[in-house]
Amino acid sequence: MPELPEVETIKRDLFKRILNHKIRLVEIRDKKIVKSNNFVKKLIGNEIKGIERRGKLLIFVLKNKEYLLVHLKMTGQLMFKAKNKSGNVIGGHSLTKMEDNFSEKFTRVVIDFGVGKLFFNDMRRFGYMKIVGEEEKEKIITKDFGIEPLTPDFTWDKFNKLFNKRTTSIKAFLLNQKIIAGLGNIYADEACFCAGIKPDRQVNNINLEEIKKLFKCIPKILQLAIKNRGTTFNSFVDGDGQKGSHFNFLKVYGRHKEKCKRCSEKIKKIRLVGRGTHFCPGCQK
Ligand SMILES: [Zn+2]
Repeated sequence: MPELPEVETIKRDLFKRILNHKIRLVEIRDKKIVKSNNFVKKLIGNEIKGIERRGKLLIFVLKNKEYLLVHLKMTGQLMFKAKNKSGNVIGGHSLTKMEDNFSEKFTRVVIDFGVGKLFFNDMRRFGYMKIVGEEEKEKIITKDFGIEPLTPDFTWDKFNKLFNKRTTSIKAFLLNQKIIAGLGNIYADEACFCAGIKPDRQVNNINLEEIKKLFKCIPKILQLAIKNRGTTFNSFVDGDGQKGSHFNFLKVYGRHKEKCKRCSEKIKKIRLVGRGTHFCPGCQK
């Protein structure tokens, strides 16, 4: 699943491509993805005036003051393909024949901006697109999302308070979008490694020193991943369809049975909150 760094990478890429271009055509190939009525009608003739992100949710600010919300969930991709002078999407576009690394097999929605097309691909079809007004957008971003790690809202006071009286595992805590927004399986494991905390520890048993480490680790890990344009494990591609390069920087995630880069013990993988969870038995207590 694309997490905060991957969604942020897509946001930055698309910003350069689709801002201020009038939407010419919208093609819905799979109705399951689109969660609002009059979707096509509302988008045609409209323009995207800004792109925001809340956790893993992309928020496209429309010219008419409505918002297009896009969540990629498990396998969603949002890819922009520019058109050449003759109006074809670069890569020999014919809607069936595209360049090698791009297939329209799982394309669910296509938005044509004149200068190029934005493809929403989603193999598993858990992602969605939805148009909402100001009030509903505010409700969603305040009710469904906790503190946002790379913003001024992520303060020590607020972070420290989150740990009060919670009895879940730290892994479940970090994955809960209503507590901290944007971490998924990869960066939750990496944050625990960075702070030296075993992912199955109970939140209320984590001491102040460890909470302080976690507070520093979370933004540090996310920023480095953004710098590397995200991690491609299965299906993530950026707004241009390219893979992220953060994979080689991961310390525990996806490294089961490999040697820890810090202490040389073998990385372990366990099942926690239904997710494959990686940690180093040497570095994490
Ligand atoms: Zn280690």
